[in-house]
Order: sequence, then C-alpha cells, then structure tokens
Amino acid sequence: MKIVDLKGLTLKELEDFALSISEKKFRGKQLFDWLYNKEVASFTEMSSLAKSLRDKLAGIYRIESIQMVDVQESADGTKKFLFELLDGKRIESVLIPPRTAFVNPQAREDEEQKRLTLCLSTQVGCPLDCKFCATGTMGFLRNLTTGEIIDQVLLVKRYINKRITNLVYMGMGEPLLNYDNVMKSIEIITTGMGIAARRITVSTVGLVPQIRRIANEKRKMKLAISLHSLDDKIRSALMPIAKKYKLVGLLDAVDYYFRKTKLRPTFEYILFDGVNDRDDDIQSLIKLSKRIPCKVNIIPFHNIHFTDSIERAGELHPTPSIKMEEFAQRLREAHITLFIRSSAGEDIDAACGQLAVKTNKKHRISINPSASGGIQHSTSEVV
Ligand code: SF4
Repeated sequence: MKIVDLKGLTLKELEDFALSISEKKFRGKQLFDWLYNKEVASFTEMSSLAKSLRDKLAGIYRIESIQMVDVQESADGTKKFLFELLDGKRIESVLIPPRTAFVNPQAREDEEQKRLTLCLSTQVGCPLDCKFCATGTMGFLRNLTTGEIIDQVLLVKRYINKRITNLVYMGMGEPLLNYDNVMKSIEIITTGMGIAARRITVSTVGLVPQIRRIANEKRKMKLAISLHSLDDKIRSALMPIAKKYKLVGLLDAVDYYFRKTKLRPTFEYILFDGVNDRDDDIQSLIKLSKRIPCKVNIIPFHNIHFTDSIERAGELHPTPSIKMEEFAQRLREAHITLFIRSSAGEDIDAACGQLAVKTNKKHRISINPSASGGIQHSTSEVV
C-alpha cells in the first residue's frame, strides 16, 4: 500500500483531504494545527482526533519524512544538522546564532531569544556548479518536497527546544529551481508556524524569470541575490549560470522586483582577493546602489577544502581582512546599507553541503556525472 505524506499540505489542502476521507472539513484545520503548530511527530499524539480516525490515518499516511542523523556544534554556537531522507539521501541545515553571540559567548543565551536563524536546504545537490561551492561537487540528485523543507525547521526546533526566529533559504541547492515547493513551504510556515514573511529570506544566484515571477506574485519574504561581481566575465567564471542570465537582464529584473514589492533586495558579495575587490568593483557597487535601493552583505570567503576537489576553488583566495574593511568603509562612505557577515561555524564545515557531500559519498549515493552541483549561497545570517 502506498503511504501518502501529509506534511507539506496547506490548510486548504488538508481541509479538502478531510472531506476526501469522509470527515468534517474542520478536521483539516485540526490536522494543520497538530502538524505545524503543535509539531507532533505521530498521529497518536493528536489527542483531539477520535482514536478510530487516528488509527485510520496511521495506516495510510505519514507525517515525517526526514530523520536527524548527526549534529555538530561549533565553538561559536553554530550547529549543523545532518538529515537522512526516506530514500537514503542526505541534506543539512545550519543553525546560526546572532552575530553578537560570536563576539560575546556569555550573551549567547539572551541573544538567541531574540534571533536564531536556520539555514535550509531546498535540493539534494545542485546543478548550477558555482566555483566556490561544496555542494557543487555532489551533482544534482533531486528537489526536496515541501514536507522535507518544513521538517528541517520542525526537527531542529524540537531538538533545540527554542524558538527559531528567522529562516534563510541558502542551504544546499538553488531555491528558485524548486520554486513551487519553496513557496508552498513559506506559505505553510507563515500561516501555521508563527514565522513572519519578513523574517524569511530566499537567496538566488540570479534566475531572472523566477525573480520576475516573485515580483508579479508580490511575495512578501525577502530576496537576496548572489551578485559577487558587476562584471559579466567574472560573474560567469564564478557562477556559470551567469552566462545565461547576464547582468543587464538580472538588474532589470531586480529593479522590477523592487518597484513591484517595495522591498529592498540584498546583494550578497563574497570577497575574493584580486578578483572582485578592486577600486572598479567599489565604483560599480556604488553606482548600483544609486539605481536600486538595496542592502549589500559582504561575505568573507573561507578557503574551504572541499572533499576531493581542492583545485575547484584553487584560484580563489580570501580578501585579507584589512582590505575587506577598507572595501566596506568606502561603501559606507557612499551611504550604502552594508553588513559584513561573520561567517559561522568554520570549525564544523558549516558552509552547507560540506557535511552532506562527505556523507552522501560515504553512503555511495550515485552522483550524476554530467551535472556538477553547488555549496550554496554561503551560510550566515542575513540582516
Ligand atoms: S552556490 Fe552552490 S547551491 Fe547555490 S546555486 Fe551555486 S552551486 Fe547551487
């Protein structure tokens, strides 16, 4: 008998489901609350449902589709969670404490009450092959279902027994290549799990049609774009998809997004020494900020030695911190809203993909040799 997943259904879908099994419509709302708000792990715990109904559901339907198999904790409080999916594939999520907690570990508990960010995966692997990315060594295996995306939040919340305040869709995979499941997960999270859309950020390498679609649908979550350069040649060398979506079209789409939603986009900018940290790059960013009201997140690059692929990022080196400060200062002087991200969890391979890449290989999951994949858009909190 085929077991059907209930996790991942919206309120309306659960109400329709209740009617389809000859129950009253309000049973759908009860299921919605049990699944997403009361966060139960089994039908047995759904005490407001009749036992006969619980038994009926338990035989045919399933409410959890991922299992936490490992947790690693960094000295700075960052935690990395490794999950196994029902088909044996592995993904990960990273819990990022607030930046002040990195500086003052004593303040961590207090600060975490206010802000605790979870970085979610949306695909197993990624087909986009960005050159600074560990997931890229894994290839694209498949999209995550809505339930698998939501379960990352629910299982981590249950594990830490604390409120997660912010979500960033920046883990393994390009979220906008899994558009429907990502948007549906956001709908469920915002309506059923108490996290407001303004506390959710979706990050993309710059898929133009999907950015326009987000604008047309007037989605309320925040959008971050991995920019990393305002030179098409450099961008394409870092992110091959930029050959298809050149800056002229991308920036038009982001401009359109801002005009439609009135939400300021964030441009993510990983600094690579001698590649995108020159005077020309500063001038280009200043010009861009005059055209599109935006925030800029400067991200230090860490020489991550990806499993089996050290050469992959071999020609990329981090901008020295003094130079990075100068770069940031010049942008601040031009009145750009700017944040320098403190990258979290360096001691536990916290850039999403690193742990899953290792363990997927250990578990001999077959990797499509024709696709190369991605780490992701750099794990850290988005301000
Ligand atoms: S950074 Fe990695 S995960 Fe993100 S789109 Fe590029 S290859 Fe994919």
